[in-house]
Amino acid sequence: QNEHIRKPDWLKIKLNTNETYTGLKKMMREQNLHTVCEEARCPNIHECWAVRRTATFMILGDVCTRACRFCAVKTGLPTELDWQEPERVADSVQLMNLKHVVVTAVARDDLKDGGAAVFAETVRAIRRKSPFTSIEVLPSDMGGKEENLRILMEAKPDILNHNIETVRSLTPRVRARAQYDRSLEFLRRAKEMNPTTPTKSSLMVGLGETKEEILEVMDDLRANHVDIMTIGQYLQPTKKHLKVEKYYHPDEFEELRQIAMSKGFSHCEAGPLVRSSYHADEQVNASARN
Ligand code: SF4
Ligand code: SF4
Repeated sequence: QNEHIRKPDWLKIKLNTNETYTGLKKMMREQNLHTVCEEARCPNIHECWAVRRTATFMILGDVCTRACRFCAVKTGLPTELDWQEPERVADSVQLMNLKHVVVTAVARDDLKDGGAAVFAETVRAIRRKSPFTSIEVLPSDMGGKEENLRILMEAKPDILNHNIETVRSLTPRVRARAQYDRSLEFLRRAKEMNPTTPTKSSLMVGLGETKEEILEVMDDLRANHVDIMTIGQYLQPTKKHLKVEKYYHPDEFEELRQIAMSKGFSHCEAGPLVRSSYHADEQVNASARN
């Protein structure tokens, strides 16, 4: 923890758990499934799982080939591909009776297709078992290869989400194996492939960026036809991760949200606890105003 900056009160919240949550957690272990909600100890878990009926699954294992300096996922060489995983995720989505599901994955730079085939199969399996559940995918750049993105877009997710995470100048330090422009291109291509599918991207603030740089991210996303943006506070997962340089006040988030809306995003969530998947169920039918 940065000794000079204390965590403000609006971030001190108690994890609210109940029986529904405990039962679901048990099921996840039995099915050998991983959710970001649990692994990131997301403070919204009760609201999401029990009230809004949304959850974020992390597929392709729980070991990532990258080591972004804000992220708590384990780094290493992943095990082989698990082709049963799509069905298990689909079963859990059905059991949880989810209205909206976010499917994300570790970066599998060890695979030629970046994991796109299993990712696409997961979307199809969920669709078969839960035709009324909206499906949002949140892939890495899958090596930046157009053919990998195409495999995923052909499965017709309801939202394509790919996170820009931080401003241009901080990208090499924050997510060394990714590139700012490659992420923009990824989002632009997704829109070209499926023009009616909303695209979405998230930014973490508090890593030392300036306000001008945040506005530049908004402009860059809009220039690449991104419809939805989320902005949340970066929190340091462990002492080994990057320090928090600034805690933004809720009023500052509201100001950023209003600026984003004025730039033409169809939807923007911004707040201290906003995560990429927060209130995602409200964004499904969003499409850009221009
Ligand atoms: Fe899970 Fe996202 Fe909700 Fe957090 S905000 S509990 S990660 S769905
Ligand atoms: Fe974490 Fe994703 Fe970076 Fe892997 S690619 S370290 S899962 S943010």
